[in-house]
This record gives sequence, C-alpha cells and structure tokens, in this order.
Amino acid sequence: MKINQHYLQLEKSYLFTMIGKKVAQFQQQHPEVDIIRLGIGDVTLPLCPAVVEALESASREMGVKETFHGYGPEQGYDFLKEKIAGYYAEKGVTLALDEIFISDGAKSDLGNILDLFDADNTVLIPDPVYPVYVDTNIMAGRKVVFADADASNGFLPLPDENTDADIIYICSPNNPTGAVYDHAGLKAWVDYAKKRDAVILFDAAYESFVADPSLPRSIYEVEGAKEVAIEFCSFSKTAGFTGTRCGYTIVPDALVRGGVALNGLWLRRQTTKFNGVPYIIQKGAAAVFSEEGRRQTLANIDYYRENARILADTLDRLGIRYTGGKNSPYIWMECPNGMKSWEFFDYLLENAGVVGTPGAGFGANGEGYFRLTAFNDHENTEKAAKRIEKLLSK
Ligand code: PLP
Repeated sequence: MKINQHYLQLEKSYLFTMIGKKVAQFQQQHPEVDIIRLGIGDVTLPLCPAVVEALESASREMGVKETFHGYGPEQGYDFLKEKIAGYYAEKGVTLALDEIFISDGAKSDLGNILDLFDADNTVLIPDPVYPVYVDTNIMAGRKVVFADADASNGFLPLPDENTDADIIYICSPNNPTGAVYDHAGLKAWVDYAKKRDAVILFDAAYESFVADPSLPRSIYEVEGAKEVAIEFCSFSKTAGFTGTRCGYTIVPDALVRGGVALNGLWLRRQTTKFNGVPYIIQKGAAAVFSEEGRRQTLANIDYYRENARILADTLDRLGIRYTGGKNSPYIWMECPNGMKSWEFFDYLLENAGVVGTPGAGFGANGEGYFRLTAFNDHENTEKAAKRIEKLLSK
C-alpha cells in the first residue's frame, strides 16, 4: 500500500491557525481589549425569511408520504435549475438546464472538476488567490504555474506571449484582492483559451457583490466563452448559505476537447460520485430567486456593501492604496510604511485591537498586503475603521 505522495507536498495550512493563536494569546494578555475581527470570510447575517420559510415548508413535505422525496437527480432538481437559468437570462446568457449542475457549494466542485483532466496539464493560477486551487492541484500531482497579480496590473493578470497553460483559474471578483475583470480582460483570457484549446475555470462565488453594471458577473457574458469555460457559483455569499451548503456549476454543451464534451464527462462523474443536494436545501436555494427572496438577499448584500464603503472611505482619507471594496466584500490594502503583512497584522492587533488577514497567506505576491472583510456588523466595522484611522494617521 502506497499513500498519495502528493499530499506530502502540501504546505501546512497555518494561516487561520496562526491568526487564531496570535489573537488568543493577545486576548489573554489584554483581556480589557475589545477585539474586532475584520478577518472573517464567513457571512454573519442570518438566512432571509423567504429562504427560512421555504426550508420549513420543504421539511414538512418530507414528513408526508405523498410529498416525501428520496434520492433526487444527482445534478439537481429542475425547479432550481430553471430559476438559475432565469437568473443568467437577466445577464443575457442563455443556459440549457442540462448545462447546470447543483452542488453542495463551489469548494467541492472546484476540487472535484479536476477528475476530468489529465495529470499532465499545466495549470495557471493567479497569485495571490483563494488557496483551494493550488492545494487541489498539488493533491493531484499537477504542475502549477503562477500568474502574477500585483499593483502593476491592478491585481488582474492578462495572458501574454509567455503564458503557457492548459487549465486557467480566474476568480472575479477576486478573493482576496477584490479586483474584478472587465469585459476586455475576460475576453483576452477567452481568446487565449480558444487559441490554445485551454479550459478556464471561472469562480464567480462573489458575483452578487458586483455593483457596477458595466462589469461582467459571469464569464459567459463574453462571446465565445461557452466554448472554453466552466463557471462555479455559490449561494454562500449571495444568500448566506455558508452553513446551509448549496452552489452550482455550469458546464456548457459547447465545451468540447479532443472530440469529447466535458458536460458528458462531468455528468458521468457526478452521477457516479455524488448523490445530490438535499431536496430541502434546494427548495431553500430556489426561494433566493423569488421576489421577496431577491429583495431580502439584496438587502443583506447592501448591508455588507455599506461596511465595505466605511472601510474604503477610511483608507481613502488615509491615502492608503487598496483594491476591492466596491464590487467585492474584500478590501486589499497596501501595508503602510512598507510593513510586511504579518508585521502589520501584529501592529494592528496590538495597537488597535483589529484583526485582519495577512496577504502573504494567499500567495507570494500577497506579501506587503492585508485583507479586510465587510462581513462584520456596522457597529463593529465603524468602530474598527475609527481605530484604524486614529492609528494610521499618526
Ligand atoms: N470560491 C472562493 C473564491 C471563495 O472565497 C470561497 C469561500 O470563501 C468559495 C469558493 C467556497 O464557496 P462555497 O461555500 O460555495 O463552497
């Protein structure tokens, strides 16, 4: 018996453990300090009433013989896929129901999709980015190369003559930088993928935070993208489903490589290894698209957007450069006075009692940067912003 040796190549995931340790230690030494956490990537507002009502009603259906549901379709119920197709139609994107696959969240599918690709492919991953892309590829023994995302390209790398990749990850709006590609940027990647016969894995987990109507919320808003891209999305940040678990993946019928439709491969993979998202949860997710559901979830997003605005305004007044905050719940700020990201973490914790996330935890290019999130409440966000302003204007 031999274990998968690639797991031994993974770096110890110490980012959030280290943050937790440092915060606990500081709190123990300074119990009087009211620590405010702007490091959280999880939502804090509860599920909206329309979703709760749908979950309750679906639960009751499950307790009645006539309306009980056993195994459902592995790729999801049509009632939810129809709502998702309707949502995409508003963005000008037409989807067939068989192109939509309901999942228990974007994270699982982002990892699982790698089943479809040979280990020999070269994978291009932006640096910095959500660490799951790198780790899942290392687990599979795949060669990873990085696309530098830095201040020089607004944290939005584009393909150039040196780009050499078969699989390309794009996360827009980006975690952690909050940067969002415009149409021209996404088109450059779509054109590259077409020329190269590469496949783009587009993570749209934060699409609902895009406020600027000129920015794309789906890669399929770019012409020809259906021939090159798989899109992952989630109800986690859109509707507070981080603990409820539901997402979806779009594998267009037009995406064909080596004469094989990837949609068929993914269907085969899912029907073999996955038994679907609970009926109750899919009913809750469908309620996100009802009139009240849309209104209520948007109100929650606006609440977080207001937090982002408070933080962004503070940094504007301080003259600190940052990306994000306008079309994203994340604010990616330059550490002041050339501080390293862990150094700034300690400085902010010790002098302002505010916790953020050191950029170095998201990749080598994250060094010297710091991520603040909009997921705390107004009161704490305002308090934290005031403390940051007082400290950094010294
Ligand atoms: N993609 C990105 C970029 C994320 O930041 C996250 C979670 O923070 C996910 C995907 C995971 O989403 P889900 O909760 O749907 O698994």
